[in-house]
Amino acid sequence: MGTSKQEMMERHLIDRGISDPRVLQAMWEVDRSLFVPEEIRQQSYEDKALPIGMGQTISQPYIVAYMAQAMGLGPEDVVLEVGTGCGYNAAVLARIVSRVYSIEVIEWLARLAPENLTRSGTGNVTTRQGDGYLGWPEAAPFDAIMLTAAPPVIPKPLTQQLKIGGRLLAPVGTNLQRLVMLVRARENYFVEKELMPVKFVPMTGEAQRRH
Ligand code: SAM
Repeated sequence: MGTSKQEMMERHLIDRGISDPRVLQAMWEVDRSLFVPEEIRQQSYEDKALPIGMGQTISQPYIVAYMAQAMGLGPEDVVLEVGTGCGYNAAVLARIVSRVYSIEVIEWLARLAPENLTRSGTGNVTTRQGDGYLGWPEAAPFDAIMLTAAPPVIPKPLTQQLKIGGRLLAPVGTNLQRLVMLVRARENYFVEKELMPVKFVPMTGEAQRRH
């Protein structure tokens, strides 16, 4: 028998500092087992990234909750996620904000995520396939932008799609990655803060070429 959802909530989220009631409610509402392959469903609530096939992973619950809490999201916010994967993080965000736009570069995941999102009863996520380097200009500006794949440096086009006061949260780096929060304080003035060391898959495509 693996970890229960109740144990995940108490031991891995609340005991480790997740206290935002809207984040906790969203983590409780989303059935993570709908986003993991059937063979490993009993591990759905373990606090670790799990393999979902072809070298890809579903994010660790604590990190999903930590990132959502760190961004200080509100019910009216519009958020861009780069790296939809299987759609789990988008399903959590969608329960906290008004709309989520999410881009995934790998075709089979870009097809799988909307199916998972529908099965989980998530209606306010718009997904598309593509390289997230250039963001989603037609839907910009965003209150928050979250990357779930690590670029060597934060892509400039994404910073330009933040509202004034908007926050971008990204794992940044190659071997050693750190979670970086960028706040657009004014049109051309950004404040950067390092939160903690992390380990995400690398952001592929243009982010690697431009570096
Ligand atoms: N958000 C996912 C979840 O809820 O479990 C986890 C995503 S996984 C850690 C990172 C994802 O970023 C992978 O699916 C990967 O294909 C995607 N990715 C990598 N580079 C990308 C890029 N340039 N544009 C969009 N997605 C990218």
